[in-house]
Amino acid sequence: MKAVVKYAKGPGMVEIREVPEPHERDDEVLIEVKAVSVCGSDLHIFHDRHPYWPPVILGHEFSGIIAGIGKNVQGWQLGDRIVSETRTGSCGVCYTCQSGFPQICEQKRAYGIGINGAYAPYVAGPAALLHRLPENIPFDVGALMEPIAVCTAAIIERCGLMAGDSVVITGPGPIGLISLAITRSAGAKVIGIVGRTSDAGVRLEKAQELGVDYIINTDTDDPVSKVLEMTDGRGADLLIETSGSSKAIHEGFEMVRRLGKVCAIGISGQAEVPIPYDRGIFKALRYDFCFSSGWTAWERAIGMISAGLLPADKLITHHLPLEQWAEAFHLLETLQAAKVILLP
Ligand SMILES: [Zn+2]
Ligand SMILES: [Zn+2]
Repeated sequence: MKAVVKYAKGPGMVEIREVPEPHERDDEVLIEVKAVSVCGSDLHIFHDRHPYWPPVILGHEFSGIIAGIGKNVQGWQLGDRIVSETRTGSCGVCYTCQSGFPQICEQKRAYGIGINGAYAPYVAGPAALLHRLPENIPFDVGALMEPIAVCTAAIIERCGLMAGDSVVITGPGPIGLISLAITRSAGAKVIGIVGRTSDAGVRLEKAQELGVDYIINTDTDDPVSKVLEMTDGRGADLLIETSGSSKAIHEGFEMVRRLGKVCAIGISGQAEVPIPYDRGIFKALRYDFCFSSGWTAWERAIGMISAGLLPADKLITHHLPLEQWAEAFHLLETLQAAKVILLP
């Protein structure tokens, strides 16, 4: 089969290669990939700015149907529509795994990073990671389940977003837009999304479509005074930080109210980011570092979409055949896309 392979360490080093079809082991299933979504981490892997173990087929955000079943697998049938968590390789026995968070396990080697992923017609992996994809969720939307589950785990499960909360989001990229959709569907109001003029176009249009009150453009607005103005000087209840920008993180301490919360989902790409530490202490802020997603967040995300509460289809701006992966990367890097779906 033809697959998109990161074949060696270093920038670039990605191409379509002819590779053998995978086979399921006893506790695994073979999945026919119906749709795979391009993630920001795929771009980071392309540029050699993210951990990965080459040669590896890229792709961890996918949906499909079961095309083969290992002999120890129960509860699944050929043709079942599925999505899969990505936490392959988690050891199952360390403190983190045993305490219910295998997605944070040090041994994890996720799909498309440590083991072959879904930029291919077929992928094989553990049946234990599957979730049933309801008939009313199309495969392209199913391919968005991983980032939606990540944001659900962070915003709802970890940071405890409540109906009526006022929220600011920094960064209008795919994770910022997904966070916006989740926040709205949870009954909270997004008073602002912080971006730059260069984000103008499809991303800010999507933000408007998903229901943000105001787009804070850092080229023309001062985000801190804008947020204070919109909250009667109090500050937002919750800041969702998806930009990883040191300036945004710094300003975040001023944008949230006393006893407010920061939900950090964005990676900064730097070893250290300076923060106004004492300001955080005196305001008694809560700063949650969030990473990956667990079983309950996946079920919650699937439930919200299936019930029509979360319009995830609006996040998709492009569908391309898998062979056009490079075009998909280009659309994302030039900020012309929100989520791009590749079809094997
Ligand atoms: Zn991802
Ligand atoms: Zn473990």
